[in-house]
Amino acid sequence: MGKSKQIGNHKSDKKKNIAKTWKTKRRTKDLDQIHSDMKPDTASKLLHQEVDYDVTGCAQHYCLHCARYFVDMRSLKEHFKTKQHKKRLKQLREEPYTQAEAERAAGMGSYIAPKAVEVKTQTVEEDMD
Ligand SMILES: [Zn+2]
Repeated sequence: MGKSKQIGNHKSDKKKNIAKTWKTKRRTKDLDQIHSDMKPDTASKLLHQEVDYDVTGCAQHYCLHCARYFVDMRSLKEHFKTKQHKKRLKQLREEPYTQAEAERAAGMGSYIAPKAVEVKTQTVEEDMD
């Protein structure tokens, strides 16, 4: 008889979903892409998209800074309160590194420290009342 062989515990019973780790579909935009999205005209285009039934929430509830779509206004607002969103705003406060900045740093011209960009959560239209 002897000892019974233990083949893994309950936790490792399930095979890990390896596919998930490799998926690139859900990859969000890079910060510099979002910086260009934050330009007023691009931003308004993104925030007022045409109804697209293939996209979450028909593309009507978009978080500009996280480049994510939400099902409805409520979940979008909920998202604004999340750590993830606040962290993103913080990241976006720093201006993207520019060639001009690099030149200034290299002593060509006077060095002007990159100014912090004030990034606020987009205003949401209250169309409920
Ligand atoms: Zn967000």
